[in-house]
Amino acid sequence: MLAALPVGITKDGGVLTNVEIRVPTGGMLRQARDDFLNNKHRDLYFNLLKAGVESIEDIGAPSTQDLNGMYMVDAEYVFYVLALLDCAGEWPKTEHTCPDCEHRFKREFDLSAIEVVRLGDEGFECPFDNPDRAAPFTLSQPIAGIDPDDPERGYVQGKVGLMRFGDYMELLVSQKKRGIGTIQSESLLRAITELGPDWRGIATLKTLDKISSPDLKRIEKTYNADKPGVKPEEEIVCPECGAKIPLPPYNWVTDFFVSNAD
Ligand SMILES: [Zn+2]
Repeated sequence: MLAALPVGITKDGGVLTNVEIRVPTGGMLRQARDDFLNNKHRDLYFNLLKAGVESIEDIGAPSTQDLNGMYMVDAEYVFYVLALLDCAGEWPKTEHTCPDCEHRFKREFDLSAIEVVRLGDEGFECPFDNPDRAAPFTLSQPIAGIDPDDPERGYVQGKVGLMRFGDYMELLVSQKKRGIGTIQSESLLRAITELGPDWRGIATLKTLDKISSPDLKRIEKTYNADKPGVKPEEEIVCPECGAKIPLPPYNWVTDFFVSNAD
Protein backbone atom coordinates (compact mmCIF):
# COMPACT_ATOMS: atom_id res chain seq x y z
CA MET A 1 0.00 0.00 0.00
CA LEU A 2 1.34 3.42 -0.93
CA ALA A 3 1.50 5.63 2.17
CA ALA A 4 2.89 9.03 3.18
CA LEU A 5 5.18 9.18 6.21
CA PRO A 6 4.24 11.91 8.72
CA VAL A 7 7.77 13.43 8.66
CA GLY A 8 9.82 11.65 5.99
CA ILE A 9 13.45 10.85 5.27
CA THR A 10 15.85 13.65 4.42
CA LYS A 11 18.02 12.75 1.44
CA ASP A 12 20.18 15.04 -0.71
CA GLY A 13 18.40 18.14 0.59
CA GLY A 14 14.92 16.80 -0.17
CA VAL A 15 12.38 15.02 2.00
CA LEU A 16 11.08 11.62 0.91
CA THR A 17 7.69 10.71 2.33
CA ASN A 18 6.23 8.19 -0.12
CA VAL A 19 6.69 4.60 0.96
CA GLU A 20 5.27 1.30 -0.19
CA ILE A 21 4.12 -0.71 2.81
CA ARG A 22 3.81 -4.46 2.34
CA VAL A 23 0.59 -6.23 3.27
CA PRO A 24 1.74 -8.41 6.20
CA THR A 25 2.58 -11.97 5.19
CA GLY A 26 2.46 -15.20 7.19
CA GLY A 27 6.25 -15.10 7.31
CA MET A 28 6.26 -11.63 8.83
CA LEU A 29 3.70 -12.69 11.44
CA ARG A 30 5.66 -15.86 12.32
CA GLN A 31 8.91 -13.90 12.70
CA ALA A 32 7.20 -11.22 14.81
CA ARG A 33 5.56 -13.79 17.07
CA ASP A 34 8.86 -15.67 17.51
CA ASP A 35 10.71 -12.46 18.38
CA PHE A 36 7.94 -11.38 20.75
CA LEU A 37 7.65 -14.70 22.58
CA ASN A 38 11.44 -15.00 22.84
CA ASN A 39 11.54 -11.51 24.36
CA LYS A 40 13.71 -10.22 21.51
CA HIS A 41 12.08 -6.81 21.39
CA ARG A 42 14.78 -5.15 19.36
CA ASP A 43 14.52 -7.85 16.68
CA LEU A 44 10.73 -7.64 16.81
CA TYR A 45 10.62 -3.97 15.81
CA PHE A 46 13.60 -4.01 13.47
CA ASN A 47 12.58 -7.13 11.52
CA LEU A 48 9.01 -5.92 11.21
CA LEU A 49 10.03 -2.47 9.98
CA LYS A 50 12.48 -3.99 7.50
CA ALA A 51 9.89 -6.42 6.14
CA GLY A 52 7.08 -3.86 6.28
CA VAL A 53 8.75 -1.07 4.30
CA GLU A 54 8.94 -2.55 0.82
CA SER A 55 10.41 0.57 -0.76
CA ILE A 56 10.99 4.27 -0.24
CA GLU A 57 10.74 6.68 -3.15
CA ASP A 58 14.17 7.33 -4.77
CA ILE A 59 15.81 4.80 -2.41
CA GLY A 60 14.08 1.51 -3.12
CA ALA A 61 14.45 -1.22 -0.50
CA PRO A 62 15.78 0.52 2.62
CA SER A 63 19.16 -0.39 4.16
CA THR A 64 19.68 -0.90 7.89
CA GLN A 65 21.10 2.63 7.98
CA ASP A 66 18.01 4.05 6.24
CA LEU A 67 15.75 2.31 8.77
CA ASN A 68 17.77 3.37 11.84
CA GLY A 69 17.75 6.93 10.53
CA MET A 70 13.96 7.04 10.19
CA TYR A 71 12.12 9.12 12.76
CA MET A 72 10.36 7.10 15.42
CA VAL A 73 7.04 8.78 14.57
CA ASP A 74 7.45 7.51 10.98
CA ALA A 75 8.31 3.99 12.18
CA GLU A 76 5.26 4.05 14.47
CA TYR A 77 3.17 5.11 11.48
CA VAL A 78 4.46 2.08 9.50
CA PHE A 79 3.55 -0.20 12.44
CA TYR A 80 0.11 1.39 12.59
CA VAL A 81 -0.44 0.79 8.85
CA LEU A 82 0.72 -2.83 9.25
CA ALA A 83 -1.82 -3.31 12.08
CA LEU A 84 -4.47 -1.63 9.91
CA LEU A 85 -3.71 -3.86 6.92
CA ASP A 86 -3.57 -6.90 9.20
CA CYS A 87 -7.14 -6.27 10.38
CA ALA A 88 -8.35 -6.26 6.75
CA GLY A 89 -11.50 -4.38 7.74
CA GLU A 90 -12.37 -6.66 10.67
CA TRP A 91 -11.75 -4.33 13.53
CA PRO A 92 -10.54 -5.68 16.86
CA LYS A 93 -12.79 -5.46 19.90
CA THR A 94 -11.31 -3.82 22.96
CA GLU A 95 -12.76 -4.28 26.44
CA HIS A 96 -13.20 -1.48 28.96
CA THR A 97 -14.47 -1.00 32.50
CA CYS A 98 -15.83 2.39 33.50
CA PRO A 99 -14.01 3.66 36.60
CA ASP A 100 -17.15 5.57 37.68
CA CYS A 101 -20.03 3.08 37.29
CA GLU A 102 -18.02 -0.14 36.75
CA HIS A 103 -19.96 -0.87 33.57
CA ARG A 104 -18.02 -3.37 31.43
CA PHE A 105 -18.32 -3.12 27.67
CA LYS A 106 -16.61 -4.02 24.42
CA ARG A 107 -16.14 -1.66 21.56
CA GLU A 108 -15.15 -2.15 17.97
CA PHE A 109 -11.91 -0.32 17.38
CA ASP A 110 -12.00 1.13 13.87
CA LEU A 111 -8.30 1.65 13.17
CA SER A 112 -9.02 3.43 9.89
CA ALA A 113 -10.72 6.29 11.78
CA ILE A 114 -7.53 7.27 13.58
CA GLU A 115 -6.14 10.68 12.75
CA VAL A 116 -2.64 10.95 11.27
CA VAL A 117 -0.99 14.36 11.42
CA ARG A 118 1.76 15.15 8.93
CA LEU A 119 4.27 17.98 8.82
CA GLY A 120 2.93 20.68 6.58
CA ASP A 121 -0.72 19.79 7.25
CA GLU A 122 -2.86 22.87 7.24
CA GLY A 123 -3.55 24.20 10.72
CA PHE A 124 -0.89 22.00 12.34
CA GLU A 125 1.76 24.18 13.92
CA CYS A 126 4.65 21.92 14.75
CA PRO A 127 7.87 22.99 16.52
CA PHE A 128 9.71 20.25 14.59
CA ASP A 129 8.76 21.65 11.19
CA ASN A 130 12.26 22.86 10.29
CA PRO A 131 15.27 21.24 8.57
CA ASP A 132 16.78 20.11 11.92
CA ARG A 133 13.50 18.61 13.16
CA ALA A 134 14.36 20.21 16.51
CA ALA A 135 12.50 22.59 18.81
CA PRO A 136 14.43 25.19 20.83
CA PHE A 137 14.16 25.49 24.61
CA THR A 138 15.67 27.75 27.26
CA LEU A 139 16.51 26.53 30.76
CA SER A 140 15.63 28.78 33.69
CA GLN A 141 18.90 27.81 35.38
CA PRO A 142 22.17 27.22 33.53
CA ILE A 143 23.78 23.80 33.76
CA ALA A 144 27.52 23.25 33.73
CA GLY A 145 29.79 20.27 33.17
CA ILE A 146 29.01 19.75 29.48
CA ASP A 147 31.88 21.71 27.96
CA PRO A 148 35.08 19.65 28.21
CA ASP A 149 37.19 22.77 27.59
CA ASP A 150 35.36 24.83 30.20
CA PRO A 151 33.54 22.56 32.70
CA GLU A 152 32.43 25.48 34.86
CA ARG A 153 30.59 27.26 32.09
CA GLY A 154 26.81 27.03 32.26
CA TYR A 155 24.45 26.77 29.29
CA VAL A 156 20.75 27.55 28.94
CA GLN A 157 19.94 27.32 25.22
CA GLY A 158 19.22 23.92 23.72
CA LYS A 159 17.16 21.96 21.23
CA VAL A 160 15.06 18.85 21.56
CA GLY A 161 14.53 16.80 18.42
CA LEU A 162 12.41 13.95 17.15
CA MET A 163 13.78 10.57 18.14
CA ARG A 164 15.26 8.27 15.51
CA PHE A 165 14.27 4.63 15.21
CA GLY A 166 17.92 3.58 15.80
CA ASP A 167 17.98 5.50 19.10
CA TYR A 168 14.81 3.72 20.17
CA MET A 169 16.44 0.37 19.33
CA GLU A 170 19.37 1.23 21.61
CA LEU A 171 16.93 2.07 24.36
CA LEU A 172 15.21 -1.29 24.02
CA VAL A 173 18.52 -3.08 24.51
CA SER A 174 19.24 -1.28 27.77
CA GLN A 175 15.62 -1.38 28.93
CA LYS A 176 15.61 -4.74 30.71
CA LYS A 177 18.05 -3.67 33.39
CA ARG A 178 16.46 -0.32 34.18
CA GLY A 179 13.45 1.28 35.77
CA ILE A 180 10.86 3.28 33.86
CA GLY A 181 12.13 6.64 35.21
CA THR A 182 15.62 5.90 33.94
CA ILE A 183 14.25 4.80 30.57
CA GLN A 184 12.31 8.07 30.25
CA SER A 185 15.48 10.00 31.09
CA GLU A 186 17.55 7.93 28.62
CA SER A 187 14.94 8.69 26.00
CA LEU A 188 15.14 12.43 26.68
CA LEU A 189 18.93 12.27 26.75
CA ARG A 190 18.83 11.06 23.16
CA ALA A 191 16.13 13.53 22.15
CA ILE A 192 18.07 16.58 23.33
CA THR A 193 20.17 17.32 20.30
CA GLU A 194 21.86 20.45 21.55
CA LEU A 195 22.85 22.02 24.86
CA GLY A 196 26.28 23.52 25.20
CA PRO A 197 28.99 22.85 22.64
CA ASP A 198 28.62 19.12 22.17
CA TRP A 199 25.75 17.47 24.00
CA ARG A 200 25.38 14.20 22.15
CA GLY A 201 27.97 11.63 23.13
CA ILE A 202 29.24 13.75 26.02
CA ALA A 203 26.15 14.32 28.13
CA THR A 204 25.17 11.47 30.43
CA LEU A 205 22.24 10.84 32.74
CA LYS A 206 24.23 12.68 35.43
CA THR A 207 24.22 15.80 33.24
CA LEU A 208 20.49 15.46 32.66
CA ASP A 209 19.92 14.97 36.40
CA LYS A 210 21.32 18.46 37.00
CA ILE A 211 18.54 20.14 35.02
CA SER A 212 15.81 21.46 37.32
CA SER A 213 12.64 19.40 37.44
CA PRO A 214 10.34 22.17 36.07
CA ASP A 215 12.74 22.74 33.16
CA LEU A 216 12.87 19.02 32.46
CA LYS A 217 9.08 18.76 32.47
CA ARG A 218 8.83 21.66 30.04
CA ILE A 219 11.29 19.94 27.67
CA GLU A 220 9.37 16.66 27.99
CA LYS A 221 6.14 18.49 27.18
CA THR A 222 7.63 20.02 24.03
CA TYR A 223 8.97 16.63 23.07
CA ASN A 224 5.77 14.69 23.66
CA ALA A 225 3.10 17.17 22.60
CA ASP A 226 2.85 18.72 19.15
CA LYS A 227 4.57 15.77 17.51
CA PRO A 228 3.40 14.71 14.07
CA GLY A 229 2.31 11.11 13.58
CA VAL A 230 -0.51 8.76 14.50
CA LYS A 231 -2.89 10.39 16.98
CA PRO A 232 -5.24 7.81 18.48
CA GLU A 233 -7.96 9.07 20.82
CA GLU A 234 -6.83 9.35 24.42
CA GLU A 235 -10.21 8.75 26.04
CA ILE A 236 -13.62 7.27 25.31
CA VAL A 237 -17.03 7.91 26.82
CA CYS A 238 -18.81 5.31 28.96
CA PRO A 239 -22.04 4.35 27.12
CA GLU A 240 -23.80 3.84 30.48
CA CYS A 241 -23.02 6.98 32.49
CA GLY A 242 -21.14 9.23 30.09
CA ALA A 243 -17.95 9.34 32.17
CA LYS A 244 -14.70 9.82 30.32
CA ILE A 245 -12.45 6.76 30.38
CA PRO A 246 -8.74 7.42 29.73
CA LEU A 247 -7.05 5.01 27.32
CA PRO A 248 -3.44 3.83 27.67
CA PRO A 249 -1.13 4.53 24.72
CA TYR A 250 -1.33 1.85 22.04
CA ASN A 251 1.53 -0.28 20.86
CA TRP A 252 0.58 -1.19 17.28
CA VAL A 253 3.01 -4.10 17.20
CA THR A 254 2.32 -5.90 20.46
CA ASP A 255 -1.33 -4.86 21.00
CA PHE A 256 -2.52 -5.49 17.46
CA PHE A 257 -0.06 -7.18 15.13
CA VAL A 258 1.34 -10.07 17.16
CA SER A 259 -1.57 -10.48 19.57
CA ASN A 260 -4.68 -12.50 18.90
CA ALA A 261 -7.06 -9.79 20.09
CA ASP A 262 -10.53 -10.72 18.96
ZN1 LIG B 1 -19.82 4.58 33.41
